[in-house]
Amino acid sequence: MKPNLNWSELKFGYVPTDYNVRCYYRDGKWGELEISSSEYLSIHMAATALHYGQEAFEGLKAYRGKDGKIRLFRWQENAKRMQNTAQGIRMAEVPDELFRDAVIKAVKLNERFIPPYGTGASLYIRPLLIGSGAEVGIGPAKEFLFVVFVTPVGPYFKEGFNPVKIAIIRDSDRAAPLGTGTFKVGGNYAASLRGFKKAKDAGYSSPMYLDCCEKKYIDEIGAANFFAIKNNTYITPKSTSILPSITNMSLIQLAEDLGLKVERRPIHIDELPSFEEVGACGTAAVITPIGEINDIDKGVVYTYCKDGLPGPISTKLYNTLLGIQCGEIPDPHNWITFIE
Ligand SMILES: *Cc1c(COP(=O)(O)O)cnc(C)c1O
Repeated sequence: MKPNLNWSELKFGYVPTDYNVRCYYRDGKWGELEISSSEYLSIHMAATALHYGQEAFEGLKAYRGKDGKIRLFRWQENAKRMQNTAQGIRMAEVPDELFRDAVIKAVKLNERFIPPYGTGASLYIRPLLIGSGAEVGIGPAKEFLFVVFVTPVGPYFKEGFNPVKIAIIRDSDRAAPLGTGTFKVGGNYAASLRGFKKAKDAGYSSPMYLDCCEKKYIDEIGAANFFAIKNNTYITPKSTSILPSITNMSLIQLAEDLGLKVERRPIHIDELPSFEEVGACGTAAVITPIGEINDIDKGVVYTYCKDGLPGPISTKLYNTLLGIQCGEIPDPHNWITFIE
């Protein structure tokens, strides 16, 4: 039975689905994958996830293609990143096969929640890995819980593929250069909430974070990577405190396919006026074109998309990536896994 949802009106929020899958790591090994219909976890009150932030997550999407088939985008990269994050904060790694089986099972069990092709909505998949073992002294847990749930989502920004405004934030940082910025951990998000609030209160959709030390180089846009286009070149920051975005990695490849040059290097904010197009990228929104960057502290505003529309290269990249994800165009790099 189809759920009673208005697919085209979906927000980027939580909608309950039928099942989730879970797996416990105990006595040095992963157990069997379990299916649950409960939205709740029962965990020990001294679990390391609750006290010491031993928590990692991932985000990927399943799409109903033009041909009706279910497509998963580059899950292997999410599995690898979650393993890297697990190493980074001393958790048991989820092996590729377990990650894949859990994701595929969660999608298939909730197939009726996969939004139809053409609605702009998709099924967001959220793998979660937490320290579930009790510890009071500081140290990694000995038990871990891996959960995968799914929820149908609409576009991340209510504006859709339309320019948004962002604000440069200097009075808080989301991650330190040798901290956990390159890991997908909840703590980075907790650290970014102040910046988000400050940007939102000033009427902007996201904060732009700069490097923590000098506040001169662009780091991330809230929870998305930054890119700019100039002189037929795709430019994205190199930094030790940003999360390696799989969307960004894919856009870099597509930019090369389109004949653009690619530069990954520190980007000084003084370069902002020279960019032809700027954008944020991530699984949630693919590309969010940026129409305005307000440097509130300095009273300087940089504007892009002067005709109100996303730039031509951002548009081309967006349509290509989304086209591959939805099966409208060929997938030359084998990024798609079909779920039968
Ligand atoms: C998840 C995330 C991104 C986007 O990564 P994708 O793999 O493209 O979804 C960017 N920045 C941060 C901080 C993130 O947590």
